[in-house]
This record gives sequence, C-alpha cells and structure tokens, in this order.
Amino acid sequence: MPKKLAHRLYLLLLGLLLTAAVTPPGVDSSASITAEPPLATPAPPRPDARLNLALGNPSGATASTRRPNNFLMEKEQYALSYNRQLKIPNWVSWHVDRDDLGDEDRGQFAPDTSLPPGWPQVRPTDYRFSVFRRDRGHMCPSGDRTATREDNDATFLMTNMIPQAPDNNQGPWAKLEIYCRERVRAGNEMYIIAGGDGSLGQITPANIRIPARTWKVIVELPEGDDDLSRIDENTRVIAVDMPNSQGIRNRPWREFLTTTDAIERATGYDFLSNVPRNVQRVLESRVDSGRGERNEGGRPRAPRRRGRRRPR
Ligand code: MN
Ligand code: MN
Repeated sequence: MPKKLAHRLYLLLLGLLLTAAVTPPGVDSSASITAEPPLATPAPPRPDARLNLALGNPSGATASTRRPNNFLMEKEQYALSYNRQLKIPNWVSWHVDRDDLGDEDRGQFAPDTSLPPGWPQVRPTDYRFSVFRRDRGHMCPSGDRTATREDNDATFLMTNMIPQAPDNNQGPWAKLEIYCRERVRAGNEMYIIAGGDGSLGQITPANIRIPARTWKVIVELPEGDDDLSRIDENTRVIAVDMPNSQGIRNRPWREFLTTTDAIERATGYDFLSNVPRNVQRVLESRVDSGRGERNEGGRPRAPRRRGRRRPR
C-alpha cells in the first residue's frame, strides 16, 4: 500500500475512534469531527515545479478565465499559457536537469481535463486530417520527463501539443531536443520555452490553429544552485525559429538559430523577464554558435544531489 494512503487511513481510523470515545450516544458529533485536522493537506510543490517559470512569464499569463487566450496553467512538469481560441498553448516553459531523465516509456495522448469547466478539450483524435497531416507535437518533450510515469504522462496532455509538420517535428525540432538532453547529461541544466507563432497559420478541421513557425528559447547553465543569480552576459542562450512545414526534415537545427530578440518581435512576448534588463539586452541580441563552447571545460560531473524523485 502506498505510504501516503496508509497514513491517511490511519488518521481516518484514529479520528473515528476518538469521535466514538468522546461522543455520547445521540449527540451530534459533527462539531468534534470538523475540529479534527484535515485529512488531506495538499502536498507542497516539488522544488522543480517552481523552476518552470523561474526566468519569467513571457506573456504575463494569469489563471483567470476572463483572459481565456492567455490562460496560465502550472503543472508540476511544465507551465504554459493556453489559448482557448486557437486551442494550442501560446508557449510552454519548463526546466530540465539530470533528475528528469530516467527510463519511463512514452505515454498516451490524452485530453487535459484540468481546463476550466465548460472549455472545449482538444482530443487526441482531433489531430487527424484528411488534407494534410500534422503530428501531435510536444512542446515539453516526452524525452525530457522520463523520471516517473506521472511526469511522462503529463507531457502527453493535449494542452502541451501544437500541430507540427512531421518534417519539422521529426527533423530539426527533434534533433534539437536530443541535443539538449545530451547537454543535460553532460552536466548542464536548462530552462526552455517553446511555442508557435500562430499569426500566419492554417486551421485544422477541428479548429486547431497550425502555427506557421515554431520557436524555442533555451538557457543553458552548468549544473548548480540559485540559477537566476548565475545568469550573466556570458550565459549561453540558444534561440531557434523554424518553419512549421514539410521539406526541412534533413536540415540541421543550427540553420535555424536566431536571436531571442527576433522571437520577441515576432510573438510580442518578453522572454527572460526576470533577468536584469542589461543582461537581457546582451543575451537576447546574440546568435548562439550552436557549439556549446560557453559551458565546456568541465569533465562530466558525478550524479547529483536533488534527490526529490520518489522511487516507483
Ligand atoms: Mn516532438
Ligand atoms: Mn526579454
């Protein structure tokens, strides 16, 4: 039996016994029951849930249904701004380090039932088309969340998907994802924000917007603590912007390197907004070399310390 459940059952039994002991027959015992400590206190968020938005909230998204097209959803595994009208995330933001990389298999696509009541939920089958085919393209990749079943399943929620051209998703986009995980395994941690620029896109039969382009902003740091304070003018930032179309499958992701500034102009978002302005100016105007020389020089480090993962 899971430890948590056993603990809850124990508390429940204890509560029942105490109630029976102190309550004379015929007397309403609800007062003494409500005086008991609540049985289910919400678990404190794991440290990494807070890291997903550590560098900022690019569109000032809020969890208010009054702004349904910039609706903030914070999950343990990633955070996102959902666009109810376009039926895709505006952006998805997450942190990845070695603790996130395990050996869980890929999960199954599922509607996101945590959307506000009454909102349409995109179904996995909504990505089937008659005219053109689009992948259900993960923004936070399945491969970045393989430490636990729960983590990996979260990446298969349809609020983490945009319709991606197979040559984009399985070509340079996938190669960049793999490259990032190689960098993580080599002793770096990353803050990643990804999305599509929907301004020019097509619409699927299920009224899901197909962004014309997909972009990504990646901050790479050698593993360490207090990450925000370690970001300075020398920090590596990889920004890419690629067409969401066929024909690019064999092109290297490095061909699509650009500046964060260019993506800010195209999307209207402000990335890295928690980083001091003068540092943002330097980092956002630079095109990465694609080689990672900024964080070379260390030997592969020993497995590290956070140890927050529950064994399963
Ligand atoms: Mn993908
Ligand atoms: Mn910025």
